[in-house]
Amino acid sequence: MAAFWTEADYDEHERVELVHDRASGLTAIIALHSTHLGPGAGGTRFWHYADPAGAMRDALRLSRGMSYKNAMAGLPMGGGKGVVLLDASRTKTPAMLAAFGDAVDALGGRYVTAEDVGASEADMVAISRRTPHVCGLPAGEGQLGGDPGPFTAMGIFLGIKAAVAHKLGQDGLTGVRIALQGCGSVGGGVARLLAKDGAVLTVSDIDPARAAALAREIGGRTVAPDAIMSVACEVFSPNALGAILDEDGIARLDCAIVAGGANNQLARAEHGGLLAERGILYAPDYVINAGGIINVSLEYLCRQHGQPCDINEVRKRIAQIPDRLRAIWQESEAGGLSADVVADRMAQALIGRR
Ligand code: NAD
Repeated sequence: MAAFWTEADYDEHERVELVHDRASGLTAIIALHSTHLGPGAGGTRFWHYADPAGAMRDALRLSRGMSYKNAMAGLPMGGGKGVVLLDASRTKTPAMLAAFGDAVDALGGRYVTAEDVGASEADMVAISRRTPHVCGLPAGEGQLGGDPGPFTAMGIFLGIKAAVAHKLGQDGLTGVRIALQGCGSVGGGVARLLAKDGAVLTVSDIDPARAAALAREIGGRTVAPDAIMSVACEVFSPNALGAILDEDGIARLDCAIVAGGANNQLARAEHGGLLAERGILYAPDYVINAGGIINVSLEYLCRQHGQPCDINEVRKRIAQIPDRLRAIWQESEAGGLSADVVADRMAQALIGRR
């Protein structure tokens, strides 16, 4: 990778911190894209990168995505993201979590962290011993916080229903065939909600036992990971990792709609146009997958302001996700621009970048 500030992904980030703590062995990146609307909020990914340039690219793309996501969700939060570079055996120690908490704290509230891939509630508790600028902490029944996955899944489920109504003119999901990639916290939650609503599911995961257990539970079937994108269906729902929608991936799709929770689904910006050319309705990832950040941001803001948290406020805001998607699709159809471009423009206007 060339100097990262000359890369398109850099996109005028306000601040990019490289953190190395010799004592614990922590190496991390904290990228703050924009604090125009409030503190940069976004989870921390714990991952092993064969090439550290990939970690920087992830941090930059994910934090810009958080700026857009938080703005489009109507939250008073900016966008940021943490990436912790793990070794090949994915060792994550209490000392590393403490050092990461110190790095977050040193930013004085400009960055608020939470869970992302590879992070747990217990990790957030460990980080919270060093900084108050963390959310996604354990929550009791009916309280805000905790694992954001189920809230993210709820928003995606509502978004898929809206997409099916918009594209296929069908109310409800009875008999709608859905191919779902990734059976983790988000994908599993989405699949359960879809199945309850009558959808017919094909699921896949690189962990075959996980896919098989989910398929058994919801009465679906499984296919191998390399087959899921070419399953004939109405909706392809990506809920694993990003950059799956490239020339090859889009050519393989046999669906009318792409709507799922994975971050950064488009490998490059032009791939949104390719989806539109194929007549596939796309639900921009950062709009449909905002449920989790809505929940944990409100948890954080209530705690900061010493106010009681209202779970109904979270539910109300998640229920607005389909309205945003419909506004994007309508503008896309009226103006001949792909849905991802329309969403980016809306988000950029909200964060003062247009
Ligand atoms: P997770 O780790 O719980 O689950 C991810 C699942 O995807 C795992 O079961 C993994 O084995 C599987 N997987 C990985 N590569 C795959 C592949 N090539 N094919 C099939 N399966 C594969 O993570 P999660 O929290 O469910 O997050 C999933 C995606 O959603 C990520 O892109 C994440 O950034 C995004 N996201 C998560 C949240 C949240 O609230 N957790 C919020 C917004 C976005």
